[in-house]
Amino acid sequence: MPTTKQQIPPEFDVIVIGSGIGGLVTATQLAAKGAKVLVLERYLIPGGSAGYFEREGYRFDVGASMIFGFGKQGTTNLLTRALEGVNMSLETIPDPVQINYHLAENLELKVHQDYEKFLQELIAHFPHERQGIRRFYDECWQVFNCLNAMELLSLEEPRYLMRVFFQHPFACLGLVKYLPQNAGDIARKYITDPKLLQFIDLECYCWSVVRADRTPMINAGMVFSDRHYGGINYPKGGVGQIAQKLVEGLELAGGKIEYKAKVTEILLERGKAVGVKLANGKQYGAKRIVSNATRWDTFAKLLPPVAMPQAEKKWQQRYQKSPSFLSLHMGVEAHVLPPGTDCHHILLENWQQMEEEEGTIFVSIPTLLDPDLAPEGYHIIHSFTPSWLKDWQGLSPEEYAKKKEAAAERLIVRLEKIFPGLDTGLDYLEVGTPRTHRRFLGREDGTYGPIPSRKLAGLLGMPFNRTAIPGLYCVGDSTFPGQGLNAVAFSGFACSHLIAADLGLD
Ligand SMILES: Cc1cc2nc3c(=O)[nH]c(=O)nc-3n(C[C@H](O)[C@H](O)[C@H](O)COP(=O)(O)OP(=O)(O)OC[C@H]3O[C@@H](n4cnc5c(N)ncnc54)[C@H](O)[C@@H]3O)c2cc1C
Repeated sequence: MPTTKQQIPPEFDVIVIGSGIGGLVTATQLAAKGAKVLVLERYLIPGGSAGYFEREGYRFDVGASMIFGFGKQGTTNLLTRALEGVNMSLETIPDPVQINYHLAENLELKVHQDYEKFLQELIAHFPHERQGIRRFYDECWQVFNCLNAMELLSLEEPRYLMRVFFQHPFACLGLVKYLPQNAGDIARKYITDPKLLQFIDLECYCWSVVRADRTPMINAGMVFSDRHYGGINYPKGGVGQIAQKLVEGLELAGGKIEYKAKVTEILLERGKAVGVKLANGKQYGAKRIVSNATRWDTFAKLLPPVAMPQAEKKWQQRYQKSPSFLSLHMGVEAHVLPPGTDCHHILLENWQQMEEEEGTIFVSIPTLLDPDLAPEGYHIIHSFTPSWLKDWQGLSPEEYAKKKEAAAERLIVRLEKIFPGLDTGLDYLEVGTPRTHRRFLGREDGTYGPIPSRKLAGLLGMPFNRTAIPGLYCVGDSTFPGQGLNAVAFSGFACSHLIAADLGLD
């Protein structure tokens, strides 16, 4: 049982549990405002799902590699702004094509950064839906333009809400209108072709892991427009650089980070979060505690069961864990990828399999943008596909190894369709499973994040940063507005803003 009686002095203003991008944006923003901040990370390096690892001259991204938020203008370029907040910056490489889709019935299609070029390519496949296509994607721009007009901070902070409403009344009313809506409902207003609607489902699924009718319109507006506005930009040196730079900025701003510091308990005094206890027995106290662990990990593992607030029980009914991934990290000979190959691909040969285990295959080849991530003459291919933890449990080490090998073979056979010669050109292969994601990312069941368990009213059901436990906040992909690096950066800006207001630092 957790210690609740002993008085723990608040040595820090804020303790952040976890150094994912959500946690680091919270920590850096607060440190820059003068707060005394400590980040505790259970792993050896920062970044969580935006981390990296190195093998035999290859530097692999753990997860994310299609990066939004590095634009140069507007307000939605939250990664650029988070780095600037602690006087840091990163060189980035623009990606001219967000996704090259290879779909059932020979539907081959690219999402170009150039909006018109993308629309024309889509319209060429569905000429009878010319108007519907334009209306749907144009409506996404309306959402984006509202978001991009205002500073993105905490919607829980009344003074900010007042200020932003008086500065941008139309943008605010626009967002209020879209907050309870889902992308699928808007798409169906304009489009009737079932195959095109399936494509829009996949456009949503590939980042929200649910179909369009369960994907909040706010998120769709952001993704479907920002890819043409700020664009997709890859950080030179790999995605891991984002977290490394944020940590550098955190320390320069006077904040601290400890690695191999697994928090096992959030300490409560009279129901208020006042500190944390680590696996090595150390305890730290702070005025505010922020958890960057998932809500399932935070409320079921770091707090006693009696402390589970009613609001969290309800949230767990509304949202469920998405599957994890089976990941292939490959080093391949350069000849496997002909000149002009795009960085990101999605392969789906059968629409009915879109949401199934090993249905949709995602591919990232970051060395096409930054060749320094692999030895000369080689490329990295990271390919992943949904997979559930339960299918990887209860196996002997030999069974586990065999199952990984068989799964890798299945994926490689399918990928040969877009990259002929992949198998023979393979130089290095490492297979990650949901067990790997759970172990290294500290995420319950290795989940990618929360997804609605039924159709919900847009983003209305997604919790903000404050929790029902006084002194405890959550940040990251199980808070508003959800998964993705730019989204968790938004959550980090909001969380730090709210805490700064609560502590009187603003
Ligand atoms: C395979 C894959 C591909 C993806 N592709 C993309 C993409 O292309 N583009 C994109 O934008 N997003 C992508 N994402 C999603 C994106 O990576 C995540 O949404 C985002 O990184 C989550 O950030 P977070 O702040 O919520 O925390 P996380 O990344 O989950 O980090 C949480 C951190 O907290 C630490 N931690 C947890 N518990 C404790 C504890 N008890 N004590 C101490 N430390 C703890 C963990 O070790 C971890 O470092 C992908 C994700 C995956 C898995």
